[in-house]
Amino acid sequence: MATESFGFQAEISQLLDLIINTFYSNKEIFLRELISNSSDALDKIRYESLTKPEVLESNKELFIRIIPDKENKILSLRDTGIGMTKSDLVNNLGTIAKSGTKGFMEALSSGADISMIGQFGVGFYSAYLVAERVQVISKHNDDEQYIWESAAGGTFTITQDTVNPPLGRGTEIRLFLKEDQLEYLEEKKIKDIVKKHSEFISYPIQLAVTKEVEKEVEDEEEEKIGEDGEKPKIEEVDDDEKAKKKTIKEKTVENEELNKTKPLWTRNPSEITQEEYGAFYKSLSNDWEDHLAVKHFSVEGQLEFKAILYVPKRAPFDLFESKKKRNNIKLYVRRVFIMDDCDDLIPEYLNFVKGIVDSEDLPLNISRETLQQNKILKVIRKNIVKKCMDLFQEISEDKDNFKKFYESFGKNLKLGIHEDAQNRSKLAEFLRFFSTKSTEEQVSLKDYITRMPEIQKSIYYLTGESLNAVKDSPFLETLKKKGFEVLLLVDPIDEYAVTQLKEFDGHKLVCVSKEGLELEETEDDKKQREEEAKQFEDLCKVVKDALGDKVEKVVLSNRVTDSPCVLVTGQFGWSANMERIMKAQALRDSSMSSYMASKKTLELNPHNAIIKVLKDKVAEDKADKSVRDLTYLLFETSLLTSGFVLDEPTSFAKRIHRMISLGLDVDEDEETPEAAAVEEKEEPAAEAAATSAMEEID
Ligand code: ADP
Ligand code: MG
Repeated sequence: MATESFGFQAEISQLLDLIINTFYSNKEIFLRELISNSSDALDKIRYESLTKPEVLESNKELFIRIIPDKENKILSLRDTGIGMTKSDLVNNLGTIAKSGTKGFMEALSSGADISMIGQFGVGFYSAYLVAERVQVISKHNDDEQYIWESAAGGTFTITQDTVNPPLGRGTEIRLFLKEDQLEYLEEKKIKDIVKKHSEFISYPIQLAVTKEVEKEVEDEEEEKIGEDGEKPKIEEVDDDEKAKKKTIKEKTVENEELNKTKPLWTRNPSEITQEEYGAFYKSLSNDWEDHLAVKHFSVEGQLEFKAILYVPKRAPFDLFESKKKRNNIKLYVRRVFIMDDCDDLIPEYLNFVKGIVDSEDLPLNISRETLQQNKILKVIRKNIVKKCMDLFQEISEDKDNFKKFYESFGKNLKLGIHEDAQNRSKLAEFLRFFSTKSTEEQVSLKDYITRMPEIQKSIYYLTGESLNAVKDSPFLETLKKKGFEVLLLVDPIDEYAVTQLKEFDGHKLVCVSKEGLELEETEDDKKQREEEAKQFEDLCKVVKDALGDKVEKVVLSNRVTDSPCVLVTGQFGWSANMERIMKAQALRDSSMSSYMASKKTLELNPHNAIIKVLKDKVAEDKADKSVRDLTYLLFETSLLTSGFVLDEPTSFAKRIHRMISLGLDVDEDEETPEAAAVEEKEEPAAEAAATSAMEEID
């Protein structure tokens, strides 16, 4: 038969080099990876057989068998799973790159452990930790039996199999072990590894054990050949019978089942140890670390099911990758595995929760399509979400654990606020934010409320790029003075979540950088503001005229006490932070952005010295040209302090430079002539006028 050669995809080739050449002692995990692949392959054929029982005819028994061959130094792993066609072999084992290949290598170079390989979807290649050469013999119902073979080194071959016994259906992986890895042929070693890593695989894992059985034979049978073709060893016994009988030892091979434990979820929780939950979690998730929290429960009554849900310690590397399998809950029906990517079992934002659900009520031969409309499934889903909330609640009772949890999955909770209206208020209890009163540790909304002064009604927040960018924002001035705490939201997703949340425990969530901020004020405060509004009416008008379209209106501010002014946005438009985020997202519909990038209102602080002087200038002469230029400077600096991006940083810089020149008394003629020339050319007419105005002030 012709042998075809193929080159490994470049990244896979690199990965193989790494696996072969990295010094790494915990090599035993290769067995876990191969068993997990066999188990996946068995899941697939069993699922297919639910609707097409005939697919099992090629091999009715479902099992995984480990066969050590000491003589030839080969460790084989056989399964009766779905098998691989020729093109599966080519694609799945070497030519099509997975995102995990690169991801895993990056993780390794930043200190990850090889045992994490399974999480990155490249577990098969761990075979090369112990083998110098690997053969994969596979038979799929739709194709002939093929042999894939490679000793790494950049290439593999595929040959139609005419030499090995037919598999019927399934896959046999043959590991030609490296000279120093022969311990993996030892029964005890294999048993220990299976017990440690693969105890909860739901198919029988058999070990082909060779037993020597003593057998008495008549003398003349001495030469009889043993069943497996070997000459029996002869051992002399009992002196008396020596003459007539001999006892010979015969080698027989028996398949010993290594994982006889019943499914963990069917057992009584009080009898299950944390170690057992941990081991089950690892076999379920490919994780190398224990879980953070677990919930094992059963629902009885009109509908019956059992489930175990786990929260991992950290987020997987590809948590938000869209192509990824959408959830991690395996669905069983009366102990039979059905599928592991049933979309309707758990909402997307909870895709980090892992576990199993075993239903007593669903039909066995249910198809993906009918599942979608299934009422039983809807009830199961509702229960699972509720139990997840309980689980998070339990985690939140331990501060350190919750911190870890929130770091890894806080984004998911925020997504949940956005997506899951029913559990929104429950999810909101788990949110944590920095605040003006707590910049080291994040606080919960509950804590926030208990600290509110009596007159405070709303929950205040400010969004921005980073804690440093917002913690001294002018928007916080009045609130700080009043002793009102303000939440500082610095995760891009925060604003989506909070906008969706709207209120918590009867308190409105109010963005302090948006229009219409109503601070709890006394009657006197209000009166004073009305008076000030009159005094500053002219200034507001002049400033608005100078800025034109750049602002919607100019009013007096109640939120700043020190800074001269701030820019606020419309109540229903984007905040400065949202505008920044949206601008950063390329390929957006730009018509939307001009609509949403909301009209800005410039708020002036009547108590600020600059503003007061400006007011007096305007009172003297409404047409004072210097007011216009200073207005621009004030506008641009408040763009910056209010969290916006400057559209024209250069003209802003020029204005500042001019101020510096004025401050330093720089003689205009001493400036470099070229620079002056350029400036003249670039400056639009209006600004040139402003420049001369500035000179006039001096
Ligand atoms: P993963 O299991 O995460 O997909 P692996 O590197 O372990 O990644 O396996 C790669 C692919 O090779 C599997 O997705 C599967 O398609 C195929 N494969 C591996 N082992 C077997 C097997 N025993 N039977 C059938 N297919 C297999
Ligand atoms: Mg795998």
